[in-house]
Amino acid sequence: MVVVCKFGGSSLADAESAGIVKEIVESSSSRRYVVVSAMGSVAVGQRKVTDLLYEISESSRSAEEEVILRHEEFCRGVGYRRCEKVIDEVFGKIHKIRDREYAASRGEYMMARIMSEVLGMEFVDGKDVISFREGKWDVRGSIEKAKRRLEGVEKAVIAGFYGEDENGRIRTLSRGGSDITGAVIANAVDADLYENWTDVSGFMMADPRIVPDPLTIKTITYRELRELSYMGATVLHEEAIFPVRYAGIPINIRNTLRPEDPGTMIVSAAQDYDSE
Ligand code: ADP
Ligand code: ASP
Ligand code: MG
Repeated sequence: MVVVCKFGGSSLADAESAGIVKEIVESSSSRRYVVVSAMGSVAVGQRKVTDLLYEISESSRSAEEEVILRHEEFCRGVGYRRCEKVIDEVFGKIHKIRDREYAASRGEYMMARIMSEVLGMEFVDGKDVISFREGKWDVRGSIEKAKRRLEGVEKAVIAGFYGEDENGRIRTLSRGGSDITGAVIANAVDADLYENWTDVSGFMMADPRIVPDPLTIKTITYRELRELSYMGATVLHEEAIFPVRYAGIPINIRNTLRPEDPGTMIVSAAQDYDSE
């Protein structure tokens, strides 16, 4: 069995949560491909690293200091020794290249570098798995590119959210786009399951930030999910559905802080539907 796991920023907000991620990944040998987002926010009101990187591309010194400090703290907590080198390399290039999308992509890049060492898996750059053509991300091109890159790779940590275009320029997906990277990888490695680990135990009947304690949906079809997405359920990026739906790969939305919860299963056909 092959499982692709994607961990969102909320699951990788600090070193402590990275430890939980490590436990989850190591608890099953099927979890061979791990897609990571940039560091999310720990406290209410704190900005995500991606938001700070957008500010850095507009020359904010304080945002840069915050990103560096948070990464240094994270690295110390997980025992990653090459932190300074990675930070120097990344910020040197951000200032040299001066491109908004390049800057924004570096949160995922740094997280994948760090987590590949923490998990003892090969690092895979987002530019080698997501392809952009004529200004848009290309589903087929990305799947082919990812297949080539991952051929013979047993275990890998892959940077989500960005890819490369036909001119060799780094381009980002839209916000929440690491979900798309995860779906592309799931298709490319012919996964049996795509686990999407976040900070809720699955899809709920309403946004839990607005309605207290809404019911969690156990199983839902891709078609039903589309309707829910239009209603504002932002748990999973809408475009993450194509690469897995037609390949018949189910998605399981899971909660990193409550790994024992079964979460929500998203399946393709009504016969798989379990309405209990
Ligand atoms: P990640 O950082 O893991 O990608 P996101 O913030 O993108 O996480 O998505 C998870 C969030 O989606 C939850 O914390 C929750 O606040 C929000 N959300 C919105 N609508 C729903 C819903 N219907 N069910 C569950 N969560 C929802
Ligand atoms: N880090 C990016 C964002 O904040 C992508 C993602 O989290 O999926 O939108
Ligand atoms: Mg998300």
